Amino acid sequence: MTDFRARQQQIAYVLADSGRDAFLVTHMPNARYLCGFTGSSGLLVVGPRRRTLITDGRYTGQARQEVQGANVVIAKVAALAAAAALLSDNRHSALRVAIEAEHMTVAVRSRLRKLLPKKTSIQDLSSVVERARMKKDAQELKLVRNAVVLGAKLLDTAVAAIRPGVAEAAVAAELEYAARRAGAQEMSFPTIVAAGPHSAMPHWRASARPIPRRGFVVLDFGVILAGYCSDMTRTVHVGKPTAEMRSLYDVVRQAQEAALEAVRPGATVGEVDEAARSVLRRARLDKYFTHSTGHGVGLEIHELPRIARGEKQVLEPGMVITIEPGVYVPGRGGVRIEDMVAVTASGCEILTPATKDLITL
Ligand code: ZN
Ligand code: ZN
Repeated sequence: MTDFRARQQQIAYVLADSGRDAFLVTHMPNARYLCGFTGSSGLLVVGPRRRTLITDGRYTGQARQEVQGANVVIAKVAALAAAAALLSDNRHSALRVAIEAEHMTVAVRSRLRKLLPKKTSIQDLSSVVERARMKKDAQELKLVRNAVVLGAKLLDTAVAAIRPGVAEAAVAAELEYAARRAGAQEMSFPTIVAAGPHSAMPHWRASARPIPRRGFVVLDFGVILAGYCSDMTRTVHVGKPTAEMRSLYDVVRQAQEAALEAVRPGATVGEVDEAARSVLRRARLDKYFTHSTGHGVGLEIHELPRIARGEKQVLEPGMVITIEPGVYVPGRGGVRIEDMVAVTASGCEILTPATKDLITL
């Protein structure tokens, strides 16, 4: 069972350390992480001792069933107004209220300002819950593994659907249909099927354009299962690859494997990024590697840490990240290979069970 109280306590310590009296958690994945509530509307007030989940009448049953370690308030007014009333209450009046600066709009912040007494200050706090979420506990790792295994099974479905003349979107449709049939709640992001020249665009999605007779097809997809996301990329080739295209693939694979080798506790994410980048640099392809090497994954598809150039975050056991270098040669084609990995006590465990040999169709 998930120990929500321990998670809340961890946040309460950070609050106390930074001299805040209360914390308004308005980003729903963070509220879910702290108290188990899966609804899409509401907020969590974290005080030194009391935690209160405020939501509305649509979620009465769900909140009572899911929320742990926090009082549930079903508000008749807007959740923000109910939170402000709670924070203005004399018995536990909060003078310094922290908000999730990355997640609150300017409009909501000014509404909150009007709702709170003048003596109460609103203070920006960044990434507090996000940093706690970087390290997954045993239960979370199990849920991540389940999502990754389900996600990886979809590769065969996608590969079977790829033929010259078939629309990219039709391949995505087959994959997503199979995902739902297999029990996925939803896709963790819009499926990428990028064929031929589109493969040179890292974030192409899946268009009505037909797959050409020859060229790479980048497949990047993931599912959400029990709240946790999967994320993987494989690049296949339609028709016989030229020697140039085959070597492009091989270099990306070497870069990806070099980065995987670099994943271990104590390494910085910048070192992992550099491991991939240096392989591409030796092959004079680094200028075509236009994004970062990876990102954390969990309740959200993009979480901390960012595996990017120069970043100093140190890897710790329990972190779950992607390793996904790619090269994108405009007009020619692109290749990306992405696995999810968990940092272990001694190195890393590759979670994604799928071959990296070039599949040609
Ligand atoms: Zn991906
Ligand atoms: Zn990714």
